[in-house]
Amino acid sequence: MKIISVIVPCYNEEENIVDFYEELMKTEAFFKEHEVDYEILYVNDGSSDGTVREVKKLHEKDERVHLINFSRNFGKEAAIYAGLQKAKGDFVVMLDCDLQDPPALLPKMYELIVNEGYDSVATRRVSRKGEPPIRSFFARRFYSIINKMSKTEIVDGARDFRLMTRQFVEAILSMEEYNRFSKGIFGWVGFETKWLEYENIERKKGETKWSFWKLFIYALDGITAFSTVPLAVASILGVLFCFLAVVLIIVTIVRKLMFGDPTSGWPSLVCIISLVSGVQLFCLGIVGQYLSKTYLEVKRRPMYIVKEEL
Ligand code: UDP
Ligand code: MG
Repeated sequence: MKIISVIVPCYNEEENIVDFYEELMKTEAFFKEHEVDYEILYVNDGSSDGTVREVKKLHEKDERVHLINFSRNFGKEAAIYAGLQKAKGDFVVMLDCDLQDPPALLPKMYELIVNEGYDSVATRRVSRKGEPPIRSFFARRFYSIINKMSKTEIVDGARDFRLMTRQFVEAILSMEEYNRFSKGIFGWVGFETKWLEYENIERKKGETKWSFWKLFIYALDGITAFSTVPLAVASILGVLFCFLAVVLIIVTIVRKLMFGDPTSGWPSLVCIISLVSGVQLFCLGIVGQYLSKTYLEVKRRPMYIVKEEL
C-alpha cells in the first residue's frame, strides 16, 4: 500500500476543516482502487479560532487525520515546510484549506505522475476572476519584474497546490533557507513538472489572510530571495552618477576659465544634492534589504515551533 500525504496549512479556518475533509474523501474511491491510502496533515498556523478543535474532532473519527499545532502564527511558508518535514508518504500534495485548490484534481495529478513519469504536477490559475483589479494588476507586475530579474522561472498564477514524488520532496527539504519563497524554490530544484490550468475558484467561507501590505512584503521577499539584480542596479547607478559628476566637474572648470564664475546656481545645487542623496539612500536601502535577510539567515532560528502533535 502506497501513501499520499496531504498537507493543509490552516490559519483561522474552523469553517473549512470539515468541508475540506469531505471534499477530499470524494477522491477516496479512486485512490483505494490504486492501493493508495491517505495521511492528512492539518498544520495549524497559530489560529485563534476553533481550528484545532475541529481537527481534533476529525482525528477522533479518522486516525489518518493528523494535527501539527504551531505555538503561534509563523506564516504559510513555515506551515508548508513543517508539513513536508513530517510527511511520510510516497507522494505529497499541498492544498489550501479554503477549497480554492480543488481536491477533485488529485486523481488526474496522480495519474500524470504514475503513468507519465513526471516528478511533480503543479497547478496555475489562468484567470483572476473575483479578485480586486488593483491586486491583479500588481500581481502581474510582480511576475513580470521577478522573471526579468531572476534566472529561476516563477510562473504567473502558480498556486502552491502541487503533487510531488518523494524525491522531489527531499530536494525541497534540502533547501533549508529561513526566508522561504516556495514559488521560487519549486522552480529552482528543477525536475519535470507538468502544469495543469484551471479557472480561479473563489473562497467559499472565511476571509483571505493576505492583506495588500502582506502581499507586497512577500513580493519583496521573493525578489531578494531569488535575485541579486537589485544589488547590481545599485552599483550601476553609482557608476552612472560618478560619470555624471566627472562631466559636471569638467564643464564647471571650463566655464570658470572661459567666462569667470559669477556666483550663481544654488537652486541647481539643491536639486543635485537632493537627487544624489535620494539615490544614495535608495541604494543603501537595497543593500540593507539583503543585509537584513543575511542577518536572519545567520541567526539560524527554527522556522516554526510545534506546541502539540497528534
Ligand atoms: N495560511 C496559513 N498561514 C498564514 C496565512 C494563510 O497557514 O499566515 C493558510 C490559509 O489557512 C489557507 C492558505 O494558507 O489554507 C491560503 O491562504 P488564503 O486563502 O488566505 O490566501 P489566498 O487564497 O487569498 O491567496
Ligand atoms: Mg485562499
